[in-house]
Amino acid sequence: MSAPEIDASITTSDTGAAGVRMRGVTKAFGSNVVLRDLDLDVAPGERVVIIGPSGSGKTTILRVIMTLERPDSGTIQVGGKQLYHEEAGDGLKPASEKHIRSVRSDIGMVFQHFNLFPHMTALENIMLAPVKVHGVSKDDARTLGMDLLDKVGLGHAANQTPGQLSGGQKQRVAIARSLATKPAVMLFDEVTSALDPELVGEVLNVLRDIAEEGRTTMMLVTHEMHFAREVADRVVMFDQGQIVESGPPSQILDEPREERTQSFLGAVG
Ligand code: ADP
Repeated sequence: MSAPEIDASITTSDTGAAGVRMRGVTKAFGSNVVLRDLDLDVAPGERVVIIGPSGSGKTTILRVIMTLERPDSGTIQVGGKQLYHEEAGDGLKPASEKHIRSVRSDIGMVFQHFNLFPHMTALENIMLAPVKVHGVSKDDARTLGMDLLDKVGLGHAANQTPGQLSGGQKQRVAIARSLATKPAVMLFDEVTSALDPELVGEVLNVLRDIAEEGRTTMMLVTHEMHFAREVADRVVMFDQGQIVESGPPSQILDEPREERTQSFLGAVG
């Protein structure tokens, strides 16, 4: 596989989108090696869709970038900032708490299960991080929150709590919430998998809009192949902790070179 010549460590100046650079990243849970010496570059503003069998380590890629899991070895940079550092004989440590907070505030992650605070309204969920983490005034956060709710088609639901919303609406609120901190990198982990089929389209439409705006780097794990074809600049086929092959959607989805990709695509239809 030939990687494109990109400098993933830089942050673009025009949109603020950040690149991601992973080198030699290994992660095991006990004896289960989930990421094996993984090298992956994502250019600033690039939209990369990660596909592959269940249990192959796709979510773990996103979680080590979000610093929710700590790799055993290797390096990860987001926008040129190093996430972890090695201590002699003692594996990787996260960079300082302050540093991790600053890196995390550059990254937005949306999960399969929406993780909204159930006792807060949709608007309050979105306002929380800008006010608490970024020191934005409540008035400004409210204006921003309403703009984002309008953007995901939920301006009318600002004062509803998650329990009053459908799964698709909850996920759209979760996406709006992750946008509220204007992240330089957005990570989407199977954000439609928990939804009833009729609710998937409304969430994909929101993701399409974000992709079209092109303000942020996007890494998406999804089983929605039509969607991958539409929004991805690059599709990465992942299996057993390693990249099997990677390239433009037309190449990977229509003319995969590797047998493992062919059998995976055959199985998902
Ligand atoms: P995928 O997203 O491709 O389905 P994951 O990254 O979720 O795969 O998981 C890869 C493997 O790592 C699976 O075998 C899973 O059971 C295991 N795993 C993931 N997270 C943990 C954890 N916190 N503790 C133990 N095992 C885990």
